[in-house]
Amino acid sequence: MGQGLSCRTREEQGLFSAVQLGDLEIVEAILKRDSSLINHSTVYDRNSLLHIAAANGQIEILSLLLDRSVKPDVLNRHKQTPLMLAAMHGKISCVKKLIEADANILMFDSLNGRTCLHYAAYYGHSDCLELILSAARDSHVSASWGYSRFVNIRDSKGATPLHLAARQRQSQCVHILLDNGALVCASTGGYGFPGSTALHLAARSGSLDCIRELLAWGADRLQRDASGRIPYTVALRHRHGACAALLNPSSAEPLVWPSPLKFISELNDDAKALLEQALMEANREREKAILKGTLYSMPSPSTSDFGIDDDISEASETDLCCICFDQVCTMEVQECGHRMCAQCTLALCCHNKPNPATSSSCVPLCPFCRSDIIKLVVAKVKTENDIDSDINSSKPRKSYKSWNLSEGSSSFKSLSAVGSFGKMGRGSGRIAAENELLDKPLSLDT
Ligand SMILES: [Zn+2]
Ligand SMILES: [Zn+2]
Repeated sequence: MGQGLSCRTREEQGLFSAVQLGDLEIVEAILKRDSSLINHSTVYDRNSLLHIAAANGQIEILSLLLDRSVKPDVLNRHKQTPLMLAAMHGKISCVKKLIEADANILMFDSLNGRTCLHYAAYYGHSDCLELILSAARDSHVSASWGYSRFVNIRDSKGATPLHLAARQRQSQCVHILLDNGALVCASTGGYGFPGSTALHLAARSGSLDCIRELLAWGADRLQRDASGRIPYTVALRHRHGACAALLNPSSAEPLVWPSPLKFISELNDDAKALLEQALMEANREREKAILKGTLYSMPSPSTSDFGIDDDISEASETDLCCICFDQVCTMEVQECGHRMCAQCTLALCCHNKPNPATSSSCVPLCPFCRSDIIKLVVAKVKTENDIDSDINSSKPRKSYKSWNLSEGSSSFKSLSAVGSFGKMGRGSGRIAAENELLDKPLSLDT
């Protein structure tokens, strides 16, 4: 008997490591010899084969187990599901497969009462985060729970996914969550530092990118935590000087994304990416002014490899925005068809945002003809490159897709990802380019 048991234990160990390493043949062979092993779990953490496959991104084995009717929501010792482990380790294919197999996205672990959305946000796996959010949008969760409630779901300490992402310096996740309706001013009322907002937590972790995102979505610099501290004080206390400079209530206010406007919430991906980029650039210019002369003024960029600069410099005079005479027209107002640059569009929207508190109706009108703005789209632009290459053809004009903006908000993400101090101010547009020149130290002359 004892011999039989130890033999079986060895078989079990072999199975666990084969699942971990993704050795499909061995897994199949062992399960063929003893099919009951499929429901075994590890001794201490009680991880099932499905947990092990999910955490290690072994998609083939995960699929095999699901095909053999292993339940997708099997729990380990900490009531974690395989989906939570896949989200924690950023195993996107396993997250996808588990969701397709109807894994429940609304399960809570027993460690901190966290969901798979918390895990994806905490560990910064923005692709998994987006997948879970889109599953929530299409599933019974949004019908029964409400999508916005799911996005703002709290763990046992009161932390929403946004709090965790800000605390862990995961700016891409912060962006995605805000874009999906995360409440920017929600406070934890429990998480480590009671009553902290995401801005407090970003100040604590010293993440400029997260602070930039949160401020652009209207985070309040004056909100106090349970100890009465504003985010500025928190940043100072943790010696994050540059963060503190931006959070200082006496610093210039950043532009805030005009989300209450109907035509802004209905923007297509390309138009949204352009406007978001313009917003981040405008705010970076503000940051430069704020940080100038402080210890934290940024080093001048050593290179400028944004292809976008080239495109703009080649644009013909006729494409210039008739409001600022500085930038290229990238946005088109519909239905009148008037054009202006993204910066001017943004300025128009940010200064005419309806105030939800007073329900005033000062919705912006087209600055040229005063007609209602029904929709904003990306204006199609002809560059000299196009003229050269299309000289004998009547092809349709190139749209701003040629500006690497075709992937929707991903370009915004990549911009914010490189938005560290060393690389700041490298965006598109003449203003940015000129400032770069001005900021270059004289020693570059050599
Ligand atoms: Zn303009
Ligand atoms: Zn018009």
